[in-house]
Amino acid sequence: MLTEYALRKRVMVTGGAGFLGSNLCDRLIADGHDVLCVDNFFTGTKDNIRHLLDNPHFELMRHDVTFPLYVEVDEIYNLACPASPIHYQFDPVQTTKTSVHGAINMLGLAKRTKAKIFQASTSEVYGDPAVHPQTEGYWGHVNPIGPRSCYDEGKRCAETLFFDYHRQHKLRIKVARIFNTYGPRMHPNDGRVVSNFIVQALKGEPITIYGDGSQTRSFCYVDDLIEAFIRLMGTPDDVTGPVNTGNPGEFTIKQLAEKVIQMTGSSSRLIYEPLPTDDPTQRQPDISLAREKLGWEPDITLETGLARTIPYFDALLSK
Ligand code: NAD
Ligand code: UDP
Ligand code: UDP
Repeated sequence: MLTEYALRKRVMVTGGAGFLGSNLCDRLIADGHDVLCVDNFFTGTKDNIRHLLDNPHFELMRHDVTFPLYVEVDEIYNLACPASPIHYQFDPVQTTKTSVHGAINMLGLAKRTKAKIFQASTSEVYGDPAVHPQTEGYWGHVNPIGPRSCYDEGKRCAETLFFDYHRQHKLRIKVARIFNTYGPRMHPNDGRVVSNFIVQALKGEPITIYGDGSQTRSFCYVDDLIEAFIRLMGTPDDVTGPVNTGNPGEFTIKQLAEKVIQMTGSSSRLIYEPLPTDDPTQRQPDISLAREKLGWEPDITLETGLARTIPYFDALLSK
């Protein structure tokens, strides 16, 4: 906890009412900062930050980042963007606008205020990767015209903008490529695999495996990820990223389903549905760079993280 007034920073979190954003706001408040949460509530909700609303060091602003924003801040975490395929494909043009226009506006703001700026990029910039595990040097294998492209290419263009503002305007940038992350405050209906499986298991409904369940993902618990964000923001100015942030523990989707069934004690059975277009077959971060530059690696196992996430959804469903 910071006690010195001088150490209190004015930190803006775009997408602050979402899953990751609200967990980040909690951490920044606990660390003693003034937090400005900016969100248009497309996928985020006030419920995620309700407990912060009476805190004098927390401020909530309803705003869409595709429009200019003039505020005075020291640091910006740019997380605004729907993250699950159901949500980002609902209005794909708006998704690209959020990534690209949102990045331009936030970079313009950072340029004017000389704020340090963090970008929530994604492992999706690697597409359906031909290199495994993925290192930051890999340029990716992305379909530019498919249903996932609004998100993948939007995020790639945002990275381009970050690096051009860095080269051209000397902005201090921090780009994190986030791999699949889960935990409390995930949206229960956003179709992501961890929330889907837990909700289905708790309701005793069939667990929907897309494809044959042999595709892999690597799941990071939210607290581990937020620690990486804070460390990356705190690195010297020559550390720009991109840095992979995620948990290298790799599981097939079928293994995840079986683990969720076992941990919830559910009687749900597995059913198989078609694999969505361009669904990556494997994904695992190489986190050597994060280990080196941030002194960071996740320490919450899938089992421990699920044990903390299941009660959240259980409580939500019983409301
Ligand atoms: P989320 O959907 O819970 O949060 C996104 C937030 O952004 C929501 O509160 C939403 O209302 C807000 N938002 C969307 N469009 C906006 C706009 N135009 N203006 C203002 N606010 C807007 O998703 P999340 O999982 O918390 O993801 C946060 C960020 O992290 C996203 O940028 C996402 O791409 C990135 N990311 C997340 C993961 C993951 O596994 N959770 C993985 C890779 C990258
Ligand atoms: N911008 C903003 N807040 C600011 C400064 C800029 O939203 O505090 C927006 C502004 O709308 C502009 C964009 O950021 O279009 C990019 O700013 P920049 O200064 O890079 O470009 P310019 O204003 O020269 O187009
Ligand atoms: N998936 C699944 N059943 C579901 C939801 C997702 O089998 O109910 C699969 C999906 O096809 C993908 C993986 O789980 O292979 C991760 O999906 P998610 O949408 O969570 O993340 P992303 O594909 O963006 O990594």
